[in-house]
Amino acid sequence: MKKKETKNKKPQIHKKTYPNFLKMIDERNFDLFISSFHDIHPQNVVQCGFIYTHKQNEKLSIDEDAAFVLDNKIWFARIQEIVKISINGEDAGFIKGRIYLQKQDLIKVHEKIKECTEDDLFLTEQTKWFFCKELRKKIMVYNLNDIIQNNIDTKPGSFYTRSEFNIESQKFQIPVEEWATECICQKLFDNSLGYLQCDRCQRWIHYDCSGLPKEVLENLDDHNFNCLICVGEMRVEKIKIKQNDNKNQQIVVELQKDNQINEEKIKIEKQERKPHQSKKPIIQSIHSNKQLINEKNSKKPFPKIKSK
Ligand SMILES: [Zn+2]
Ligand SMILES: [Zn+2]
Repeated sequence: MKKKETKNKKPQIHKKTYPNFLKMIDERNFDLFISSFHDIHPQNVVQCGFIYTHKQNEKLSIDEDAAFVLDNKIWFARIQEIVKISINGEDAGFIKGRIYLQKQDLIKVHEKIKECTEDDLFLTEQTKWFFCKELRKKIMVYNLNDIIQNNIDTKPGSFYTRSEFNIESQKFQIPVEEWATECICQKLFDNSLGYLQCDRCQRWIHYDCSGLPKEVLENLDDHNFNCLICVGEMRVEKIKIKQNDNKNQQIVVELQKDNQINEEKIKIEKQERKPHQSKKPIIQSIHSNKQLINEKNSKKPFPKIKSK
């Protein structure tokens, strides 16, 4: 009796069109379903401002980012529209999002993409509808330049963006050549790696590119750190540091003798370059996408090393 009352309150869907809509949902053709359903029953489509995720009391609103699981694939999207659809007396939620692409989707677009991390996301203009049951969780996407410049502490499970990507023109909004590199090796900034800040030029240097032996890296409390550029006359383009290259250590030792000569030049450089707010190393314990979805496959966090 009570059930019948609830049903009567909601507008009825024409029985002939109903199987077609169900078929569209079964085939996961949500784009077609939403548009054709809206054309015939606009009164049954209600725009919503937010939706709850699986996490208790966690809301997702328009312009926020979310992870979806669809056909065993993880999708990332920026929410554009949330609708509640009443079909045959039942409510179903659908979310339209702008799709984020990942490293593996863009590897052929530019050589440098290989240096990106698994946590890099690139927002596109392409949209896709998701069923609310596919919504896995809210995610945080940080601008990598903001992290470097303002020393933002990011939470585990965070994602990073360097630029938006236009699928139609196959171009990045910010050219790859302008993406942050920081370290003397000129590889793209990788927030999952350990970095040391040079006490002179304030540049962030990879542990592997610091030229410091493991023993020193493990106990940096009593050391000042000067990068290879600051301890010598080396120019960025001349330095190519590879892992396990013993010569690096020799270069540091030799160039440290010349520190006095470079002092004047370094002081000037330091004034011109805007220093970072803090000198602590950027060390992020990385929790990959996998951890969001599958806790068992989480990566190990990097060891913490303090420079001060
Ligand atoms: Zn490096
Ligand atoms: Zn330096």
